[in-house]
Amino acid sequence: MTPMTRRQTLALSTTVMSGFLMGAPALAQGRARVVIVGGGFGGAAAARRLRRVDPDVDVTLVTEAAEFTTCPFSNLVIAGERTIESITFGYGALADEGIRIVVGRATAIDPAARLVRMEDGAALAFDRLVLSPGIEMKYDRVPGYSKALEEVMPHAWKAGAQTILLRDQLAALPQGGTVLIAVPNNPYRCPPGPYERASLMAHALSRTNPTAKIIILDAKDSFSKQSLFVQGWEALYPGMISYVPFADNGGILEVDGGEMTITTAFETFKGDVVNFIPPQSAPQFVQDAGLTGEGEWCTVDQATFESADVPGVHVLGDAAIVGDMPKSGFSAAVQGGVCAHVLAALLRDRVPERGVLLNTCYSLVSPGYGISVAGVYRVAEDGHLKSVEGSGGTSPVEATPEFRAAEADHARSWYATLTTALFG
Ligand SMILES: Cc1cc2nc3c(=O)[nH]c(=O)nc-3n(C[C@H](O)[C@H](O)[C@H](O)COP(=O)(O)OP(=O)(O)OC[C@H]3O[C@@H](n4cnc5c(N)ncnc54)[C@H](O)[C@@H]3O)c2cc1C
Repeated sequence: MTPMTRRQTLALSTTVMSGFLMGAPALAQGRARVVIVGGGFGGAAAARRLRRVDPDVDVTLVTEAAEFTTCPFSNLVIAGERTIESITFGYGALADEGIRIVVGRATAIDPAARLVRMEDGAALAFDRLVLSPGIEMKYDRVPGYSKALEEVMPHAWKAGAQTILLRDQLAALPQGGTVLIAVPNNPYRCPPGPYERASLMAHALSRTNPTAKIIILDAKDSFSKQSLFVQGWEALYPGMISYVPFADNGGILEVDGGEMTITTAFETFKGDVVNFIPPQSAPQFVQDAGLTGEGEWCTVDQATFESADVPGVHVLGDAAIVGDMPKSGFSAAVQGGVCAHVLAALLRDRVPERGVLLNTCYSLVSPGYGISVAGVYRVAEDGHLKSVEGSGGTSPVEATPEFRAAEADHARSWYATLTTALFG
C-alpha cells in the first residue's frame, strides 16, 4: 500500500474530526465527480487546485484542443517580440497529477441529468460542473462583419491562428500604411488589451515603418489606464497612435472587407490592416443551457460562482459577470482557485469560507515600459463582489524610466509564475 502523504493524512483527519464523512452524499456513493469545461485560465486553475485540495475527487478537464495558447503576451507575438510557441502550453503536468484530460468540444449541458454532452457523442457525468469556456464573438452585431471576414480583418481576441495572421499582416504593412483597431463597448475580454496592442504594434512599426499610423476606433469614450497609456504613447511613439472615442466617431455603422473600410456615423476610415475586435458574449452552448438568463453573460453567486439560474453548475472567468472583477486571465485563475475550495467544501456538505480575491493587470506600452492596475475584491453584504475601498490602484503617473522598466519586468515574472502554476 502506498503510504499516505502528510497532506492526505491532514485532509483525512480534518474530515473525520469535522464529522462530515457521513454527511457527504456524493462521496458516500463513491468518488465525487467534478467536470470542468475549458482548459484556459479559470479551468486549469480550478482543476489543479481541486486536485490538490481534495485528492478524493475525480477531476475531469474538458478542453477543445490539446494545447492552450494564452492571450496574455499574444500582443508581444503580434509585435514580433515573442514566438507563438513561447505562449502555448500542454496539459501533461495536469494529467500527471491525476486530472483526467478529455480533448473535445462540449456541445450541450443537461443539468437535470447532470451530463455534459460532447461533439463526438460521448457524455460526461458530473456531481458538480465548472464552466470556464471564455468568450464567443458576436459576428452579427456590425453590418458587413462575419465569421468569414475574420480571415481578412482578424480580431486576434482568441490566441492562436488569429494572432499569427495579424502578426503577418502587420509585418507586411506598406511603408506609411494605416492600421485600424476597432474596440467594442464593455463588457469584453481584457479591457486594457486593445490599447496594449496598439502600443506594441507602434513599438514594432517605429523600428521598421516609422511613418505608419495606428487609429483606434472605440465604442466608448474612455478606457482602462488611459492617462498612463497616452503618456507612454506621447513619450515613445509621438504622432503614431490616434485615439477616436465614441463621441468623435458616433459608432461603427458598417464594415467592408473588400474595401478594407470601417464606416462610422461621422466618417469612413480605410486601413491597410484592420484589427476588428467584435462584441462578445458567453459561448452559445452556455446560453442554450439557460445559464445566462435574459442576457448574454452568466450570472453567478459571487461567493461560490454557482449559477444563479442552474444549481450545481459554477461559472468562472470571462463567461460570467463576477462583480467588479475585470475579465482577465488573472481574475479567472484566482476565481478558479477559490471555486476549487468552494467545491471541496460543498461536496462534503461544509459551508465554504469567504475570502478576498485579487487581480493585477500589467500592460506593456513597450517591451521595456510597463504599467499596471491592481484590485482587491470582497463579497459585500448585498452579495456583490466589490472592490475593497482604498485598496489596489494604478501605477503612478509620475514615474522614472527605471520604474516603468521594472514594471515590464514584473509583467514578465507575473506571466512566468502564472503559466507555471497553471501548466508547469
Ligand atoms: C490580446 C489580449 C491580451 C490579454 N492580456 C491579458 C493580461 O495581460 N493579463 C490578464 O490577466 N489577462 C489578459 N487577457 C485576458 C485573458 O486572456 C482572459 O481574460 C482569460 O483567458 C479568461 O480565462 P477563461 O478561463 O475565462 O477563458 P480562456 O482562458 O479563454 O479559456 C477557455 C477555454 O475553454 C475552451 N473551450 C471553449 N468552449 C469549449 C467547449 N465547448 N468545449 C471544450 N472547451 C471549450 C477554449 O478552447 C479555452 O481553452 C488578454 C486577452 C487578450 C485578448
